[in-house]
Amino acid sequence: MSRVYNFSAGPAALPETVLRECAAEMLDYRGTGMSVMEMSHRSAPFKKIIDDTEATLRRLMGIPDNYRVLFFMGGATLQFAAIPLNLMRNGRAGYVVSGNWSQKAQREAKKYGDAVVIASSEDTSFDRVPTFPASVDQDLDYVYVCQNETVFGNMMREFPQTGGVPLVADVSSCFLSAPLDVSRFGLVYAGVQKNAGPAGLTIVIVRDDLIADGPAHADICPTYLDYRVEADKGSMLNTPNCWAIYVCGKVFHWIEDTGGLQAMEERNRAKVRPLYDYLDGSSLFHGTVVPADRSIANVTFRTPSPELDAEFVEGAAERGIVNVKGHRLVGGMRASCYNAVPPEAVDALLSYMADFEASHPVAPRSR
Ligand SMILES: *Cc1c(COP(=O)(O)O)cnc(C)c1O
Repeated sequence: MSRVYNFSAGPAALPETVLRECAAEMLDYRGTGMSVMEMSHRSAPFKKIIDDTEATLRRLMGIPDNYRVLFFMGGATLQFAAIPLNLMRNGRAGYVVSGNWSQKAQREAKKYGDAVVIASSEDTSFDRVPTFPASVDQDLDYVYVCQNETVFGNMMREFPQTGGVPLVADVSSCFLSAPLDVSRFGLVYAGVQKNAGPAGLTIVIVRDDLIADGPAHADICPTYLDYRVEADKGSMLNTPNCWAIYVCGKVFHWIEDTGGLQAMEERNRAKVRPLYDYLDGSSLFHGTVVPADRSIANVTFRTPSPELDAEFVEGAAERGIVNVKGHRLVGGMRASCYNAVPPEAVDALLSYMADFEASHPVAPRSR
């Protein structure tokens, strides 16, 4: 068996210890004589799994008691619709557009009301987090942000000041990579396949009072996307993604056992710092995001030409360094250094970059 250095943006690397535990429990989960994939979601063993997964997440993130944790089947993309369907009561929300994911969310929300772009960095190709407005219209139903824009590689260190307007955040690609003050938000959500588990599960953490009256668009909101129903049913309106919930539970324990979110953030920062330092000193490669807004998860960079980029990606694979090709929207390279990516993977990437640069000298260039 040999494992590669996997920089996939998602589905992405999982901790090896978690994979081994899953493998060990595959044929007989703790004396049940079956795998978690084969058991009823209403059985006692599964009830224990989902309860423990939620409890562990609550401990890890310090989720206040007045927030509900919902386990939704489907991707983060489904929540682009669920959020306006549930929360757009006055028919108007503000969107910070800092990359393609927040842009997609804004376009989807337009189907259900007025999704006003209150800040955007599209004019600089999303190389940064846009400047937030000093204040926002207090009639907005919510203000929406994507904390870490996975494709472009920019990340918010701060969030807009919204007064009494609830802040909604897509944290898919930075979920559990650092502490997050949940009480600052009305709702945070994450598709788990970036940093917490297998694809097909999205975790929504929402403040009680926002869902108490049911969905804003009760007439058209699918029952399946009704936050209040999901909360009342303990995420068991229908069959949840049992397998993903189980794996996430293990990942949450792994984070806890390795020191929690503070320690995770320190490790993640230490992991990406040498990459950014290298990019800053390189004459062949350059980072694509302004230094202040660089992601601690998705490191985006390029060479002066798409041909060299392609050669770099190909050569990487020969060294067991995989999934460093940039998103098809932007090209270039992207190394996603999520929680489960070990520092040795970054070391391998860096030494390859140095070799590649040495064998591809370039004339000094102006940026
Ligand atoms: C990947 C991603 C999504 C989309 O996730 P799906 O689960 O594929 O729908 C949305 N937002 C962010 C920030 C992402 O990284």
